[in-house]
Amino acid sequence: MNLKISIAHLYPGLLNLYGDRGNIITLLRRCEWRGIETEFEEINPGDKIYGHDLYFIGGGQDKQQVEVASELFRQKDNLTDQRDEGAVFLGICGGYQLMGHYYQPFEGDRLNGISLLDAYTVAGKKRFIGNVTAETDFLTLKTLVGFENHSGLTYLQGKTLPLAEIITGNGNNGIDKTEGARYKNVFGTYLHGSLLPKNPHFADYLIELALEKRYGEKIELKQLDDKLELQTHYSLVNKAY
Ligand code: GLN
Repeated sequence: MNLKISIAHLYPGLLNLYGDRGNIITLLRRCEWRGIETEFEEINPGDKIYGHDLYFIGGGQDKQQVEVASELFRQKDNLTDQRDEGAVFLGICGGYQLMGHYYQPFEGDRLNGISLLDAYTVAGKKRFIGNVTAETDFLTLKTLVGFENHSGLTYLQGKTLPLAEIITGNGNNGIDKTEGARYKNVFGTYLHGSLLPKNPHFADYLIELALEKRYGEKIELKQLDDKLELQTHYSLVNKAY
């Protein structure tokens, strides 16, 4: 069977801090290296967000989040339907914050989120900047590594679970030792870097979910030679903050 997944990059011209585009490149390459066909679309302001298996949204400054927030909010119902039909979402930092109920910047009006995650974010006085190591309870290789740079403090509630538990760094709010969030196939994280090139196991996990959503069955991915990626990963585990 010729496998295919469709991937969308949401608002790359507005939310794309610290090389977050590297996450899209990783997803596309790891599919192509396995002979999985990919359809790719950049979603820009005014575009309808529809018909993809996997959606990615990067991080950004408060200013850029204002425009993206109103774009997303207009399509909240459609995005909620897609979440409930199993579409995969990955949001980094500013994009992650907008997947919750709201983001209250330090200055300016509260930004409505699209509530794909039962979470909310309020900007604090202190910026969290540095390396992060966190431990998941659902990935084969448990650790995730990355770099955080945010003032937003995110709090999870209801059935939304943390993506991982903080080992080094601050994560969601520097208090409850949680990092990121997940609910159904929606994943949010503060880990820039970009995240997926040095966490190939998480990239593959997302690709498998997208395939399962499209074909209605679990499809095991062929193993790749991740020697370089894993060398990078382990060099960053517990890297000093
Ligand atoms: N502007 C948001 C904050 O400062 C998100 C920053 C980011 O995406 N790195 O928390």
